[in-house]
Amino acid sequence: MRSNLVAGNWKMCGDNASIEKLVANLKALLPAEPAVDIAVFPPSVYIARVVDGLAGSPVAVGAQNVCEQPNDGAYTGEVSAAMLVDTGCRYVIVGHSERRAMYGDSNERVAQKAKQALAQGLMPIICVGETEAQRDDGSTLEVIAEQLQAVFAVLSAEDMCSIVVAYEPVWAIGTGKTATPSQAQEVHAFIRALFAKKDEPLAKGLRILYGGSVKAANAGELFAQADIDGGLVGGASLDAQEFSAICRAAE
Ligand code: PEP
Repeated sequence: MRSNLVAGNWKMCGDNASIEKLVANLKALLPAEPAVDIAVFPPSVYIARVVDGLAGSPVAVGAQNVCEQPNDGAYTGEVSAAMLVDTGCRYVIVGHSERRAMYGDSNERVAQKAKQALAQGLMPIICVGETEAQRDDGSTLEVIAEQLQAVFAVLSAEDMCSIVVAYEPVWAIGTGKTATPSQAQEVHAFIRALFAKKDEPLAKGLRILYGGSVKAANAGELFAQADIDGGLVGGASLDAQEFSAICRAAE
């Protein structure tokens, strides 16, 4: 039985004061024992502060990115998986479309990042998704398969028991346009079928999140789909009220 996960990606938003307020509001609004897994992903410089602030709450903390290199060294500006674990992270997002589009994260590098995360005991949330042009030209499933092929090439079946996949259509991220529940379900079922070709029990246990303008108002119908196991939430996760309503919708 898969447990749902709601992940809040705070992107490059906030400052000490707003993050302190958001953490306090989340602690006040989220149930002490939620029936879903919940995680938040602050900008890296605030991770330690958020880990401290959420200590004793059921909300886990993750990072928005990780370096693909296995060891410490001359990688200026990068943060390793070991450092993220040392700071209290349990998850890391890899392959977010903003990183793929703006920071050169190729399919292969995303897979290496996931590998390094797993090697240190972090659970990677591997993002995949098509652009609007790719959806319009009918290549959505092909694009997703190609993105996941790079993951299959690098991760073992055992590794894949500890990953989460997030389907995030690029055209729905931060745009207010959400995939319809049936559009999302079609891709989620396709992703699960790809994993089933590798290993049936693995595919059954795999959590596949939907991301792209999820809000309290649309979360319920998205999460009701058979292959949608929660959400990766951007903008709405910066509002504690909205985020806690989304978490309730996933219960
Ligand atoms: C995201 O950043 O992963 C995301 C889905 O953003 P939004 O919810 O704002 O579309």
